Amino acid sequence: MSQQILDGKALALRLKERLAIEIKTLKDATRDVPRIVSIVVGSDPSGLSYVTSQQKAAQSLGIHYELQNFEADSSQENVLTLIAELNGYDHVHGIIINKPLPVIMDFKTLINAIDPRKDIEGMNLVNLGHLLIGDSRILPCTPSAVIQLLRSSGISLKGKHAVVIGRSEIVGKPVSLLLLKEDMTVTICHSKTGDLPGIVSRADVVVAALGKPLFVKGEWIKKGAIVIDVGINQVDGKIVGDVDLASVKEKAAFVSPVPGGVGPLTSIILMNNALEAFKIQHSI
Ligand code: NAD
Repeated sequence: MSQQILDGKALALRLKERLAIEIKTLKDATRDVPRIVSIVVGSDPSGLSYVTSQQKAAQSLGIHYELQNFEADSSQENVLTLIAELNGYDHVHGIIINKPLPVIMDFKTLINAIDPRKDIEGMNLVNLGHLLIGDSRILPCTPSAVIQLLRSSGISLKGKHAVVIGRSEIVGKPVSLLLLKEDMTVTICHSKTGDLPGIVSRADVVVAALGKPLFVKGEWIKKGAIVIDVGINQVDGKIVGDVDLASVKEKAAFVSPVPGGVGPLTSIILMNNALEAFKIQHSI
């Protein structure tokens, strides 16, 4: 099968160009730019690369980006106090809570303390409710990246069968709702699903988000399917996805690689959400 790679880096560049133009136009019209505050607690290195890519993306787009770094032993109350202050500032349009958090902190408590109009990760309960209803303006970044990659294939999704492997609140469930909104027929699989290979073999689109290195095999894949790999796993010092790309690319028409597929899109989509939050707060 002559398969094509869905190149997340190239797509991120195209999205960035469009965003830059819109931000410049809005800057001229409002004399303002989107301003976001990113909250980091502690200095766990596993979260730092995402923070660096947020910073770079914001800088290159003219989005004002401020990092608020708390010591690892700070209390959750201190973070909640900052969030309450930021909620009240007209000049702050977006707030990000970076993971990992210290064990004494609860991501849901923090994200739900953010004014939904400023929740640019699209993860607080109000925004997840909008996602369920299908009228969101701010979408969770990784699920949104999956949809952007799928659309970039140019293949019509309407009426086709999507199989999502994983049912987490961050990836599996929201991506399933977005695929439903694309008029796909969606099957959600998880760790208790029986005959996963059999279910995957009937899919026109497979989204792998289970966090198991190279788990999805080529022999499961229907000829001509599109396979999106969300997984990020460290194996022998290398990053690999949840899909065994070497065998899957023999069957699939389109595959997204790891690294270089979903990953590069997430920080650009976060900036797109910052712009959307800015527009909501300017009633645009
Ligand atoms: P999670 O651990 O919260 O959820 C994993 C899901 O996979 C669960 O619903 C579980 O039921 C399912 N699962 C586990 N083993 C399975 C099996 N053998 N068969 C079928 N289903 C199985 O993980 P998550 O937060 O959803 O992340 C999934 C993967 O995506 C991870 O590798 C993570 O690092 C990656 N990720 C990538 C990005 C990105 O921006 N690229 C963002 C978030 C997560």
